[in-house]
Amino acid sequence: MKRVATVPDLRSAVASFREKGQRVAFVPTMGALHAGHLALVEQARRVAGKVVVSIFVNPKQFGPGEDFDRYPRDLEADAEKLREAGADLLFAPAVDVMYPPGFATTVHVAGVSEGMEGARRPGHFDGVATVVARLLGLVLPDVAVFGQKDAQQCAVVMRLVKDLGLPVEVLVAPTVRESDGLAMSSRNAYLSPEERKAAPALFRALLATQLVHEIGERKAEKLLAAFRTAISAEPRLELDSVDLVDAATMRPVEKVDRPVLLAAAVRVGRTRLIDNVVFGG
Ligand code: AMP
Repeated sequence: MKRVATVPDLRSAVASFREKGQRVAFVPTMGALHAGHLALVEQARRVAGKVVVSIFVNPKQFGPGEDFDRYPRDLEADAEKLREAGADLLFAPAVDVMYPPGFATTVHVAGVSEGMEGARRPGHFDGVATVVARLLGLVLPDVAVFGQKDAQQCAVVMRLVKDLGLPVEVLVAPTVRESDGLAMSSRNAYLSPEERKAAPALFRALLATQLVHEIGERKAEKLLAAFRTAISAEPRLELDSVDLVDAATMRPVEKVDRPVLLAAAVRVGRTRLIDNVVFGG
């Protein structure tokens, strides 16, 4: 696996893949890699001859008071994991490579970015859309792979790619979980042993709500109430938000008459965890 940190080195490495006629798949990450990220790499390997992974903790997508400074970083361990997973190229730029002096563009994707996480983390999806647009422009992949765990992010990226006519196919890979159901996340590293024990209750509450739908409940209000009841069974989880939205538009629904996304965020101590399930339709 080759490792590059500058735009010219990235471009020439990708160009050499293209000269060999290889399709290029791209997996953007913020590092602190776990099996969820590596599953994206695996998915990328299935659809392309060469896999490019980026590691960049993007300051633009963290709000004031969020965890940018303490976000876990371990480039050497990440590079080793990527090598083992069969990635071909790691792009790990410094902040001034991604945002050189004079950088002045913000990409705002209206609509899908405005509810849910977008409403609670102002500016977050502008930061995501801006970095993804720049990364896609630098790497110029045929395919880019994102994780369902960040469902709203996937919707924002799909809208961005469509609206800007970018010649890249967006693939969404399923959420990878620990054996007790907790969605893998770089932020799980913040959890104390006690908090870690409590954390899977988030996914259990999502599944319990999905079950309530399966046995016939269609009203959003009732399903959201079922979720709140389920989550309150674990006192160490503090509910931050829960939304039931159209899985494509991310707009709230009143009843489940099409595929919907049930997405929730909880606080466990100082850590904020998110997860979601899709059902209906
Ligand atoms: P991050 O490093 O958290 O920005 O995530 C990079 C990519 O990995 C994003 O597309 C995430 O949605 C995806 N990802 C993060 N956690 C998981 C997971 N548990 N399962 C699948 N994909 C994930």
